[in-house]
Amino acid sequence: MIYADNAATTKLSGTALNAMLPYLREAYGNPSSLYSLGQQAAEALAEARQTVADCLHCRPEEIYFTSGGSEADNQAILSAARRGKARGKTHIISTSFEHHAVLHTLQKLEKEGFTVTLLDVHETGRVTPQQVAEAITDDTCLVTIMYANNEIGTIQPIADIGRLCRERNVLFHTDAVQAAGHLEIDVGRENIDMLSLSGHKFHGPKGVGALYVRKGIPLTPLIEGGAQERRKRAGTENVAGIVGMAAALKEACDHLPEHTAKVSALRDKLIAGLDAIPHGALNGDRNHRLPGNVSFCFEGIEGESMLLLLDDRGICASSGSACTSGSLDPSHVLLAIGRPHEVAHGSLRLSLCEENTEQEVDVMLREIPQVIDYLRNMSPVWRKLQKGECSYVIQ
Ligand SMILES: *Cc1c(COP(=O)(O)O)cnc(C)c1O
Repeated sequence: MIYADNAATTKLSGTALNAMLPYLREAYGNPSSLYSLGQQAAEALAEARQTVADCLHCRPEEIYFTSGGSEADNQAILSAARRGKARGKTHIISTSFEHHAVLHTLQKLEKEGFTVTLLDVHETGRVTPQQVAEAITDDTCLVTIMYANNEIGTIQPIADIGRLCRERNVLFHTDAVQAAGHLEIDVGRENIDMLSLSGHKFHGPKGVGALYVRKGIPLTPLIEGGAQERRKRAGTENVAGIVGMAAALKEACDHLPEHTAKVSALRDKLIAGLDAIPHGALNGDRNHRLPGNVSFCFEGIEGESMLLLLDDRGICASSGSACTSGSLDPSHVLLAIGRPHEVAHGSLRLSLCEENTEQEVDVMLREIPQVIDYLRNMSPVWRKLQKGECSYVIQ
């Protein structure tokens, strides 16, 4: 089997698994308990917090553990909104192609009277700092823009946006779930006030994430209860999960240059090969792109059919995001970069990691064109396009 869906989730690394096992077996104490079994767990949490802080270049007191990226996004945005409202500011700036954890939270706030500006991401899948600058008003309480997009892999000019928000005294949150462990991040240098990450996107376990909140910024709990996470996130900590996430993040950060070199070479080979398929086009900017992301639209096919046929041939891929597959709506990300509905339906995302091989890329470059040919030959739409009865959107 070839696993090329690392943007949806990743395989747990051996290092992360081994770090977790003691906390699932013998060291099962509650970190809030005073006896040594509990204190052992509390120490593991403290160590994990330090590790995550080191990777982001912040202080451990600025890290809050959550149940994943979605919770971190929700808490960051709702906290910033509450702080804004207390100061009479109810305008939020974001982009049209954020993850639903961000977009749906913003929709909820709109119903509560907030005004949301969603910036255009152009066909490149990127915003410009100038767009952000022009959108900021005296009423703006938050800018939330993802570090890198989960479907098309485009990377935003985060440091420039961060500098600008700091100058204008507006909070800046970034959903860095696709970036953490894959790109060099320095929250101080990039002027990031809040940042979300998730363990399972960098070979850590599922159901655990972290939120970085710069010292002095008030955080509102989403879950009430005990005093865990300095009273900002109640509930007995997922000790093994947190330890596993920290181990995976450290491993990813320690090997970042070497993994980036390997994965981006595989990505570029895959992109070059798929570029040769007629009436297909790469989604998003070629250069400002996650090392592992390959995303294409092919005219005259249905992405879902392609995925099933690829699965038969042992290839795990995706079209759009895992959350929307199964629904008939085309991906909001592909619509945001201007792909028409009929083209957005024919999307394919291959997301690689350092465990993929050149041989796997060769297999994909052999199988994918065959599957596309097969589907096009059965497609009434493709027949019409070929006969010139309607015209191609992608030349
Ligand atoms: C996966 C993902 C999330 C959600 O993270 P979970 O840990 O699955 O809740 C949020 N944002 C982006 C960009 C993602 O890729």
